[in-house]
Parts: sequence; structure tokens; C-alpha cells
Amino acid sequence: SGIKFEKIDMIDVFQEGSERIKPIQDFKDAGLHPVMLRNTQLAGYLKPTPIQRYTLPAIFEGKDLIACAQTGSGKTAAFLIPILSKLMGKAKKLCAPRPNPATFEPGVSTGVRAEPLVLIVAPTRELATQIFDEARRFCYRTMFRPCAVYGGGPIAEQIAHLQKGCDLLIGTPGRLVDFINRPHLLTLKRLKYMVIDEADEMVQSDWENELKQIMSGGDQEEGNITYLMFSATFPKICRELAEQHLAHNHARIRVGRAG
Ligand code: ADP
Ligand code: MG
Repeated sequence: SGIKFEKIDMIDVFQEGSERIKPIQDFKDAGLHPVMLRNTQLAGYLKPTPIQRYTLPAIFEGKDLIACAQTGSGKTAAFLIPILSKLMGKAKKLCAPRPNPATFEPGVSTGVRAEPLVLIVAPTRELATQIFDEARRFCYRTMFRPCAVYGGGPIAEQIAHLQKGCDLLIGTPGRLVDFINRPHLLTLKRLKYMVIDEADEMVQSDWENELKQIMSGGDQEEGNITYLMFSATFPKICRELAEQHLAHNHARIRVGRAG
């Protein structure tokens, strides 16, 4: 399939994939759930960034996606807004199990297992925390609850956090593998979206094996999980992982400066 090319705000956009994605011009034209449209306004986002113009319609169509764009191009909202907007339609049905408020005591295990709908993997604690902050903004007035887990943080606190109910799980690869290996604490069987953020950095920081384990976790029945990979560059190992896990007809968007 050919590469399609266009310019948005002096920025080159390349599209690869079988079907062309029509970029949106405005958040208002994106068919967002009203709560999510409101949250973009509350965040002060007036217009979608170039990468967001493509990822919103692509994710709305249910496509797996590889997206390449520089740091600072708004990749976090590029996946959070459409994912949450799509999940909003069935929020009541989908929300993760919550502890019983009548018997809930801080510091005492609720025995509730985390069953996230969205898993977001980030290479560092700082990035995971940034994504968590943005997720909290966009989960405002939804029923969805984000949680972040990362190495270096106190694990008991993270377990307590997970046990309050976790719809979006954000984490670094090492700590996520820790939790995946404790199936009484976490299961990926209800996962709908797996987002790999800064995939190239993950490979550079030697998270390759953890990443492989995470990407093959969850409910691997064909078509149940939408895989979204974000990266500044796509080294060989990232392309291999994409080939193994992304749907054959996935979309590829590359946003780069002109020239
Ligand atoms: P990246 O992951 O591509 O490095 P981020 O998602 O961290 O970029 O976003 C960079 C900054 O841009 C953040 O401060 C974010 O709040 C802001 N931002 C994202 N999307 C928009 C938008 N549509 N309008 C204005 N600011 C935005
Ligand atoms: Mg980012």
C-alpha cells in the first residue's frame, strides 16, 4: 500500500496502511462523547495537534495503530481522548469491580483484583506519572479510575490503590510484569486497549523482555485488544513487536517537521 502525504500547519504527515484516515479539523467534529469534549475544553485544548487529528478518527474506527511523532506533540491525549470517549458509551457495564464501601478500611486488603480495560506502558516513572496526571484530567466526570504503578514506589501503597478499582492501568514494564505474575492482584482478561508509549525508549532501556511478556499477556483471542504503539522512532525490535501483535490492517501515522 502506498504512502499518503499531506501538510498540516507546516508539518508533514505520512500515512501508511490499506485505508486512508480522514483527519479531523476540530475536537467538535470528532464525534467525542460530550463529557470528553468538555474535558478537552477544561484542559484548555482548543485545537487538536497534528497527531491527534489522525489518531482520534483511527482509534474511533477501532484500528490498531503505530504513531510516530516528536516529544511534545500531544501523544498522551492522542490516545487518552479517543479511548475514553469510546469507552464512555458503555461505562456502567465496563467499569472495573470496586470494593464494598460499607466494609472498606484503608490499609486493609479488599481482595478486589484489578481488571483494567486499558493498559498503558511507559518506560519511566516520570512518564508514567505524567500520563497518570493527564488520565486523571480526562477521567473527570467519567466513572473510570486510573492507577499508576512503577518501580521505586512503595508496592503496598500501589496494591492498595489497585484494590480500590482500576480501569486504566499505567505502569513501567518491570513493575507491570511483577503484577502480571500475581494473578490474584491483576488480570488482563478484560483488556480492550494496550498502549505502548515511547516504545523506542523502552527498547533502549532494556525493557525488551518485559515488553514482550506484557504484549503477549491478556486475552490474546484475535481482535479483542486494540494495540496502539507510540514512539519517536521505530527501531527493528519495535517493528517486530508490532508485526507480531498489531492487526494486519493497522494504521501508521508519522508526523514530522517539514524538510
Ligand atoms: P508527547 O507525549 O508527544 O511528548 P504530551 O502528550 O506530553 O506530548 O503533550 C505535550 C504538552 O502538550 C502537554 O503539556 C499537553 O498538556 C499539551 N497538549 C496536548 N494536546 C494539546 C492540544 N490539543 N492543545 C494544547 N495543548 C496540548
Ligand atoms: Mg509522551
